[in-house]
Amino acid sequence: MAPSSVTIVGASLAGLRAAEALRRRGFDGPVRLIGAEAHPPYDRPPLSKQVLAGEWEPERAQLTDAGRLGDLDIDWWPGRRAESLSLAERELTLDDGTRLAVDGVVIATGAVPRHLPVEPTPPGVHVLRTLDDAVALRDELDAGPRRVVVVGAGFIGAEVAATCRGRGLEVTLVEALDVPLGRVLGRDMGRVCAEIHLDHGVDLRCGVTVTGFEGRERVEGVRLGDGSVVDADVVVVGIGVTPATAWLESSGLTLDDGVVCDETCLAAPGVVAAGDVARWPNPRFGETMRVEHWDNAVQQGAHAAARLLASDAEAEPYAPVPWFWSDQYDRKIQLAGRVRPDDEVRVVVGSTAERRFVALYGRAGRLVGVLAMNRPRHLMAYRTLLEQGASFDDALAAEV
Ligand SMILES: Cc1cc2nc3c(=O)[nH]c(=O)nc-3n(C[C@H](O)[C@H](O)[C@H](O)COP(=O)(O)OP(=O)(O)OC[C@H]3O[C@@H](n4cnc5c(N)ncnc54)[C@H](O)[C@@H]3O)c2cc1C
Repeated sequence: MAPSSVTIVGASLAGLRAAEALRRRGFDGPVRLIGAEAHPPYDRPPLSKQVLAGEWEPERAQLTDAGRLGDLDIDWWPGRRAESLSLAERELTLDDGTRLAVDGVVIATGAVPRHLPVEPTPPGVHVLRTLDDAVALRDELDAGPRRVVVVGAGFIGAEVAATCRGRGLEVTLVEALDVPLGRVLGRDMGRVCAEIHLDHGVDLRCGVTVTGFEGRERVEGVRLGDGSVVDADVVVVGIGVTPATAWLESSGLTLDDGVVCDETCLAAPGVVAAGDVARWPNPRFGETMRVEHWDNAVQQGAHAAARLLASDAEAEPYAPVPWFWSDQYDRKIQLAGRVRPDDEVRVVVGSTAERRFVALYGRAGRLVGVLAMNRPRHLMAYRTLLEQGASFDDALAAEV
């Protein structure tokens, strides 16, 4: 039975898409959208790209505004953090002590950045997750520093490094692994992604960890495990995120690196989860996953809303082919599918030397992933093969 009201916790991409989908599907009961941030829902991808580069004013990343939310009769509660949820009492408690009776619940609280386990952290050391983070970092870059150290060469760190180079800054990129992204893309493709930074004059230090910071009033350097110190005016730490589930500890929901859902995105009766916070078994890949990509937040937000309105018999599994992009320098990197470092990898279009190629990932005879650099048309074509469940041989032989 459809809920009498729906409370969405997390007013960002997945939460907004869930709210819109509820209305699109004709749900006319009360919809609350509760978000810890004061801003209307906004897009995060531009934060490490156009906003940090100073090309976009932050407002341009906004996805909606109070007027449009009002038109959809969505009751938006900005700047309000959920502190706890009780499934037994069907009650949500906010940070100011407000207790709300809830019926249907969408959990869309995303993820929070990991911090380095080193103390103290002087001013000038940043993370990048929110619009406020991006503006604070951009303002510091506007103040005319010379040397930036980026800790972590994952996709966010790599984008920050690229944007800072685009601003003419000296950039050192520090990565704990021998090969950046090696555990995601495998060593060969990880190396190619690292090389684009070397092409652009980044000082890439791999296989070293950060042991501390120099400077008290303001960061002056980063101490590394090999005993060296890298001078720094600004430091950005991009070492990954953890799902924002602390507020759900006593809820009665199953938490395990995210909110654990069934294959329809249901976490408990009348409770669904979507976006970076949700973990669910994706039947297409026979694997339980949590996906930190923009496209997944969009699709899963809408799917979770539909699930809340459906009966158990009608409920459909959520079986996407995960997909994301990353813009670094003049390269667009796109990855579709679910790849592992030990998959077989074959370059089928272009060459890694020209940094314009498509690589296919195969496992147990199946096509499981596609990595493209500046080949968006090919990426889409191979993604269709992924959706069709193509064999690795058929994908290798395909003319796209
Ligand atoms: C800098 C940056 C660049 C990115 N670039 C790309 C890209 O190029 N391509 C790509 O595919 N993906 C990219 N991503 C990832 C993408 O933006 C995320 O996957 C997406 O934002 C996830 O949306 P979400 O709604 O699940 O979570 P979030 O966007 O994290 O939103 C969760 C919201 O919930 C709020 N919240 C948390 N806890 C509570 C609480 N207890 N009570 C109330 N509210 C709460 C948070 O404040 C936040 O506003 C990028 C992410 C970042 C940070």
